[in-house]
Amino acid sequence: MTTTILAANWKMHLSPSEARAFLDTFLPLYEPTSGQEVWLFPSAVALEAVANATADRTDIVVGAQNVHWEPGGAFTGELSVTMAAEAGARAALVGHSERRHVFGETDAETGKKIRALLSGGMRPVLCVGEKLEEREAGQTAAVVQRQLSVLDGLDAQSLGQIVVAYEPVWAIGTGRTASADDAATVHRAIRDRIADYGVTATDIPVLYGGSVKPANARAFLQEPEIDGVLVGGASLDPVSWSEICRSRVD
Ligand code: PEP
Repeated sequence: MTTTILAANWKMHLSPSEARAFLDTFLPLYEPTSGQEVWLFPSAVALEAVANATADRTDIVVGAQNVHWEPGGAFTGELSVTMAAEAGARAALVGHSERRHVFGETDAETGKKIRALLSGGMRPVLCVGEKLEEREAGQTAAVVQRQLSVLDGLDAQSLGQIVVAYEPVWAIGTGRTASADDAATVHRAIRDRIADYGVTATDIPVLYGGSVKPANARAFLQEPEIDGVLVGGASLDPVSWSEICRSRVD
């Protein structure tokens, strides 16, 4: 059985002092819980504050929202894997829909980021998901398969470090969610694809993301195909985030 992952993507919200204030409220509301981990993705400038404030919590993983694939150089505004790691990150989001569709990140760049993270000992969280028009055109499976192809060629040990998050673009920040059943169907297709690499697909956590809230988190977490959730908006409030983190066990 994989560990359930409850991941919070804070996007361009919560400064270092706001992140510390968030944790002052959240940590007393959420005790370490067997079988699950909380992964926090603060802004780059808040990484160190969040890592320091959670240093004694082995059930909490801190991650970067984005990294560059090069180790350093003339890349104004970018963050290297080593810099993120020094600030306390042990994981990073890759291919989030906002990176793909707002900033034009390609599959090729996503693939390079994954390899840079693996070389730096960090766990990539590969986000995949179709746009509304792709869903309506019946292309969900093809889009997700194409986005997963960046994993081609990785060895079993590297694949064992990957987390996949299925986030239908039309469900992110919109209040619309895939049904737990629909998400499970895509999750099964993701696992079938991973099994083609010759690894045990159940060893790779597959999360669902897209308008997860305290009111619907349990339905997703109860679905055996879903190993956790990646949450944007509802993770910004420490009380609602603690409710989501407790919803599998409460
Ligand atoms: C996200 O940003 O990954 C996300 C799922 O956002 P939201 O929960 O707000 O839909």
